[in-house]
Amino acid sequence: MKLLQSYAKGQWHTATEGFKLCHHAITGQPVAQISSTGLDFSGMLDFGRSIGHKHLQKMTFHERALMLKELALYLLEKKKDFYALSQATGATQLDSWIDIEGGIGTLFVYSGKGRREMPDHHIYVDGAPEHISKNGTFLGQHICTSLKGVAIHINAFNFPCWGMLEKLAPAILAGMPIIVKPASDTAYLTELMFRAIIQSDILPPGAVQLVCGSTGELLDLLDCQDVVAFTGSASTGQYLKSKKNITENAVRFTMEADSLNCSILTPDATPETPEFDYYVKEVVKEMTVKSGQKCTAIRRAIVPAELLDPVSEAICARLTKVTVGDPANEQVRMGALASKAQQQEVRERVSQLRKTSELVFGNPEHIQAIDANDQDGAFVSPILLCNHRPSDDCPAHDIEAFGPVTTLMPYYSLDEAAQLANRGQGSLVGSVFGYNDDHVADLVTQIASFHGRMVLINRDSAKESSGHGSPLPHLVHGGPGRAGGGEEMGGIRGVKHYMQRTALQGSPTTLMRITEKYMPKAQTLPAIKHPFKMYFEELKVGLTLVSEKRTITLEDIERFADLSGDRFYAHMDEEAAARNPFFDGRVAHGYFLVSMAAGLFVVPEEGPVLANYGLDDLRFTEPVYPGDDITVQLTCKQKSYRRGKGYGEVRWDLQASNQNDEVVAAYDILTLVASNTEPFIED
Ligand code: NAP
Repeated sequence: MKLLQSYAKGQWHTATEGFKLCHHAITGQPVAQISSTGLDFSGMLDFGRSIGHKHLQKMTFHERALMLKELALYLLEKKKDFYALSQATGATQLDSWIDIEGGIGTLFVYSGKGRREMPDHHIYVDGAPEHISKNGTFLGQHICTSLKGVAIHINAFNFPCWGMLEKLAPAILAGMPIIVKPASDTAYLTELMFRAIIQSDILPPGAVQLVCGSTGELLDLLDCQDVVAFTGSASTGQYLKSKKNITENAVRFTMEADSLNCSILTPDATPETPEFDYYVKEVVKEMTVKSGQKCTAIRRAIVPAELLDPVSEAICARLTKVTVGDPANEQVRMGALASKAQQQEVRERVSQLRKTSELVFGNPEHIQAIDANDQDGAFVSPILLCNHRPSDDCPAHDIEAFGPVTTLMPYYSLDEAAQLANRGQGSLVGSVFGYNDDHVADLVTQIASFHGRMVLINRDSAKESSGHGSPLPHLVHGGPGRAGGGEEMGGIRGVKHYMQRTALQGSPTTLMRITEKYMPKAQTLPAIKHPFKMYFEELKVGLTLVSEKRTITLEDIERFADLSGDRFYAHMDEEAAARNPFFDGRVAHGYFLVSMAAGLFVVPEEGPVLANYGLDDLRFTEPVYPGDDITVQLTCKQKSYRRGKGYGEVRWDLQASNQNDEVVAAYDILTLVASNTEPFIED
């Protein structure tokens, strides 16, 4: 039998006592022993804070993002090993795919987002500068920097791989070393993947450590620079969150707990509509994928009272086809729960739910499992319940049976449906199925504040929908109240949970130096050579070019109107333009100004600028009249190198001013500029 090891201070640690057994979910046989006795928790924290932090901090966001991609590719190569062991957790091939490749996919997404949405730098600039002084010599700018501590990731048993990777990706991208603590029951699979991470030698020393078994005194040693990200039951989460050390030191604690997610069918979705079919399929899918051991699974199916019978019949018809047993058999659609303890717990919860609900489908005490002895494995039948008076005493709003269990609930008005949804006391996800967008909008307005995510499915979106129960790295995962009040992922939002946001106040030039981003009114560097003749490496933030002036004529306006077809009266009719409250007479087209400005700064010959790929934040701030003299100031605002591609993105601040030094147009120009050290490589 396998002896699970922890990984501490850069070495594998083997406990010698205090072992607990992990059992095979299908055969019930012991598969591994687990214990963390003998681990030096204080030393692990020191190691992460010193060695791990030092290495990660040397790297920019882009370097860390590239490392995540390399790691994802490495783990994909090893995926066969993970799939093979995943069966011991009771998972089918599909369940394993969600856990293993879903987790690896999170690394890919964070790698891409880190390179596209974060700078190739150590400081993340959060939002635009705040203008807090009359003359602009004192600016405000929010920045985010990595916390100096260690992130402790405590995971639930149901997703041994995804649970580790969805937390690892944003933390490592933020530059924070982590200690992973998997749930004991399925830690053997996490340990196998963690072993591959160490073997890959991709992450720097101290970046990741592993605790197989109890966390001992670890949480009592944390301080304000550490983070705990917990996924599990509400009771454990509350207990850990209220630990004296955590509250006294205001240790950041993100909690993802159990959730009584709902799915609502709207009244228009009658049996003849595609929405009805999608709803039935989704409820059954959510009951049976991972044997219902998903924090996001549909626990409460809220349907119009007049559709209760057809929905119930259609769900039962589908559930009849669900084959339960050993996932090694390809005919099997649903495997086992992760352990006999879970099986026992689900049965107890179902009997509590049944006190006020009718059993519509399934046998809570018995299931004939295919290719397996149902006495040995942790099998349960899918269970559909129906509570006919869900607005009254209905335990389904309070009790989570963490298995293939859903309760149907009828409603008589949309307001009642919303009230029922919100009785879940805060959920990770809610979904609405229907094609009447007025109904959908009404429900969303009433229930969104109780939900971390909402999925709205109809005939237009269903085919490409990622489904009710799939958290995506791009979108927030977490929910208010009972769901823990935490938030994970959500793209770069998830990275910021491992960083401190600081409001900087200072001179524009000081802020430019710190953020490596040009700030309005910062000191500029006059360009001796035209900036469009400079390669990426030669350009400096703050480098500025001031153009020659150009006088706008009536003929320019006429010719632009002919060329573009834009004959808006303010450009063409002197009297009508003068009647407009904003103008004194005919004005130049804003888009003419943008085109003309390009004529003032663009270098015609072939050179380092490869392409102009857009504009951001374009504003026309003052009207431009015939006879006005326009000059353009072009300043290098921000640089971001595409590593390995031979070019980088350069953002330019552009201000067009008139003869009175009034800014008439302002915007950012986005260009791609070649490197002078690396050859160009196509994406
Ligand atoms: P759990 O018993 O609360 O355990 C969760 C994690 O906490 C495990 O790693 C567990 O380790 C650890 N733990 C327990 N006591 C601890 C302590 N005193 N100090 C430090 N760590 C401790 O929950 P579970 O039974 O594994 O998971 C099922 C629950 O998780 C369900 O209710 C489900 O809704 C919820 N869940 C939520 C999400 C979400 O994203 N919101 C995702 C999945 C699951 P050991 O296993 O070693 O005890």
